[in-house]
Amino acid sequence: MSRGQGKNSGAKMAWVLLGLSVFGGGLGAVIASQLVSYRPSPEVIAANQEISRTENPLVTTGNTAGNSFCQYNALDSVTEFLYQIRTLNAIANDPLPTLLGLSSTVNADFIASLTPATFPKISDRARSAKIPIIMYHDITAIKDVSWDVIPEELERHFQALQEGGYTPISMDTMVNHLRTGSQLPEKPVLLTFDDNYIGQYKYAFPLLQKYNYPAAWSVHTRFVGTGGQKPKATWNQLREMHKSGLVTIASHTVNHLNLKDLSDEQIEKEVTESKKVIEKELGEKISYFTYPEGDFTDVAREQLKKAGYKAALAMSLDPSLERSANESEDLMSIMRFGQSRFDEAIAMASGGTSTNQSPFLTIVSDGSINFTTPVEKRTVTIDQLPLTLVFGGRVATTHADTRAQVEEILTMTPQAIAAVDGGFFSLERIDGNKMIGPVMSQFSSKAGVFINGNKGENPLLNGRPLVLISPTTIKFIPYNAAKHNSLEAVRAELVDVTDAFVGAGWLVRDGKPQPAESFGKLYGFDAVRDRAFWGIDRTGRPVIGVTMEMIDSVGLGKILVKAGLRDAVMLDSGASAALAYRGKSVMQYEPRPVPHVVALLPPDPVAAVENTEKLNCPVSLNRQVP
Ligand SMILES: [Zn+2]
Repeated sequence: MSRGQGKNSGAKMAWVLLGLSVFGGGLGAVIASQLVSYRPSPEVIAANQEISRTENPLVTTGNTAGNSFCQYNALDSVTEFLYQIRTLNAIANDPLPTLLGLSSTVNADFIASLTPATFPKISDRARSAKIPIIMYHDITAIKDVSWDVIPEELERHFQALQEGGYTPISMDTMVNHLRTGSQLPEKPVLLTFDDNYIGQYKYAFPLLQKYNYPAAWSVHTRFVGTGGQKPKATWNQLREMHKSGLVTIASHTVNHLNLKDLSDEQIEKEVTESKKVIEKELGEKISYFTYPEGDFTDVAREQLKKAGYKAALAMSLDPSLERSANESEDLMSIMRFGQSRFDEAIAMASGGTSTNQSPFLTIVSDGSINFTTPVEKRTVTIDQLPLTLVFGGRVATTHADTRAQVEEILTMTPQAIAAVDGGFFSLERIDGNKMIGPVMSQFSSKAGVFINGNKGENPLLNGRPLVLISPTTIKFIPYNAAKHNSLEAVRAELVDVTDAFVGAGWLVRDGKPQPAESFGKLYGFDAVRDRAFWGIDRTGRPVIGVTMEMIDSVGLGKILVKAGLRDAVMLDSGASAALAYRGKSVMQYEPRPVPHVVALLPPDPVAAVENTEKLNCPVSLNRQVP
């Protein structure tokens, strides 16, 4: 049987039967307003802490009080992890199948992945990956020195990254990986720009925004805003880049002197004063340092540690010493490649072999939603099922006037980086855009209008997940046709709601895969087919995804839990399941056109500033122990 034929006939049938077959489904309506997030009460936390202390003699209290910054301590991490499981168990009032299941199969690996190497060592788990770090200096219209790069050349590099399937990662993602071995995208690359040239602001920053690539920026504080032959960006420009959420500012000393030539006192001054000034100007903790000319001494390394830096970037004028971040000696001497070696450097990029490790397991959810992380695509295979997942950014839906391929609707959605086909639609007219059930989209010819759908049909959708999106949060609540029938009614559930629609069913709910019963009478939920879905991962990031091979709904839910999803809603299955990323469909077939998508937009820059501290650290380590 050819894949295409099987899909078309089966799926068509599915959609025809969809509305009718769910009659009486009423799944989960009891759990009236079970939201995406929950937070343990202080009492529950206190109670569990007590259990944790008394039952685990090995476990300390994991005290991070009095230190607002992340302290990576192996025992603390395990303590926190055990504590979290206990808290979750207590709240759920039954064992958490996810975590218990994992502990029986990959327990040692899992625990180890939560155990960072002793600072400033690079974890053995990070040694199989290779992150090439590219070092740029000035970006200028006319080349002055050999290491200057013209904007066209820089864009060619960015295009090569995009076309080659590379994922530029942030400094935080890289350092977390080097410490713990946490999973990386397939071909990770880190872009760095040194010396704060105005040309970097003028040419590189707009390109970073265009491609949604994160980068690190090394700033020598005495030169900020200065003119001359090679003018430097101002504090306002640095603040603008920092607020974009894409640029991580690193200290590059005050005076840009080679630390090898300085006295201990001078080194201390260069290291601490630059940090203080940048922190004051940006209003945020600075964690990274870049050695002028790449040279460092033991004293310099000690001073950096003392000042509270988490990692330092080096470089060498000798190309034979250039190597990937993972092959560097430790976090205080991370090596880079000069941009002239771009091609050979990126060719080595590899996310490494991290079997059994989920990229998300090192972070325990605190139940919040996070719209501040860059959008990134990953292809993963879990229990033999290949998946394409796109994480991060903000969420919006688009309701097109006619049906189209998802990649076409993506181009109609301002700023959108990726999209997956969304809610139910009527099959009757192939060029129609009519949805089944209520729909409201921020991108639509009826933007912001709540279209209630067919009153007769809507009760058939009762109990399915009603998806509500606002600029700051996401809710999945059981749909009730009698109640959720107007803009006022959905505003009562989420006050600044911008998007609403009904999904096919919950695949994952509060971190648990959903059993067959939860799908009620959803037609074909147990059939093996292609499936599209979206949800929230354990770190609070939005996620859209498609299966690259066919599977049933219950099996998919179990796999999505392993992929780190906290909540996941099935959107579609069969012939119209489709996902597009940066203009291109990722599907191996041509899906049936659809009228509605869930899209990921670039991260929220305002919230990014407020939340950066939280982003840097596993959530469990941020908790202040009373
Ligand atoms: Zn420099």
